[in-house]
Amino acid sequence: MATKLTNLSKLCVHTLTNKPWDLRQCVENYSSAGIQGITIWRNVLENQNLNEVKKLLDNHNMDVVSLARGGFFPSTEKGEREKSINDNTFAIEQAAAVGAPVIVLVCGADGKQSLEKSRDQIKEGIIKILPKAKAAGVKLAIEPLHPMYAGDRSAINTLAQANEMAEEINSDFVGVAVDVYHLWWDINLEKEIKRCGSNNNLFAFHVCDWNVPTTDFLNDRGLMGDGCINIKKIRGWVENSGFNGYNEVEIFSDKYWGTDQIEYLEKIKRAYLNKT
Ligand code: ZN
Repeated sequence: MATKLTNLSKLCVHTLTNKPWDLRQCVENYSSAGIQGITIWRNVLENQNLNEVKKLLDNHNMDVVSLARGGFFPSTEKGEREKSINDNTFAIEQAAAVGAPVIVLVCGADGKQSLEKSRDQIKEGIIKILPKAKAAGVKLAIEPLHPMYAGDRSAINTLAQANEMAEEINSDFVGVAVDVYHLWWDINLEKEIKRCGSNNNLFAFHVCDWNVPTTDFLNDRGLMGDGCINIKKIRGWVENSGFNGYNEVEIFSDKYWGTDQIEYLEKIKRAYLNKT
């Protein structure tokens, strides 16, 4: 079990957690709430001048933890796979421009082909973009997604699979992201966290909660403490593995998006200090 969090120095919030806000609102409100860690979702970078974005982040002393997200490599269509390589290349440029050291990869899946085939294409895609990532100094984190997404969002569904792929690619620039929402149920989780930690492959740690019952498989994530995940226990494993990065709050929630975001941010801080 992890020790209690006593301050916000390791708190990072994903901009999508506060979906109603644009990037400026996220930066200004996080900063005045005493939160310096930010993971930027690419939707808030659309039509933005990235030099201005970088200035905004620097002026508020923000620490950009990751860019979310790249990936979506597999497709039965060659043209789609090429499009995805271009999009990931663009993501690398965006990450470098805003100072994000890591891109989180939601790897993708195409239900018209086998999971094995999709995984081959994921690996191929990562290897293709790797030289550009290296040149830009941006790392790539393979994020395993809960098996309920295996048909369309990710053919990588356990940390073991993510670890294996990262180890096969064998680059300092490829690792994994551990998200409690996707992995809390896995009987091998402690072992697999140890494995990526000891390889220096653990690049990111995402927290939220699993609501019981869950009413929507995409946008009904809980705030820490709302659901059934033993987050403290998992954070303990992550920290014991040598990870000392940010705890990233990533909550997609129609319920919370419909509330006052300033009050919600205060709730996030309380849940972070008491339930994470
Ligand atoms: Zn995540």
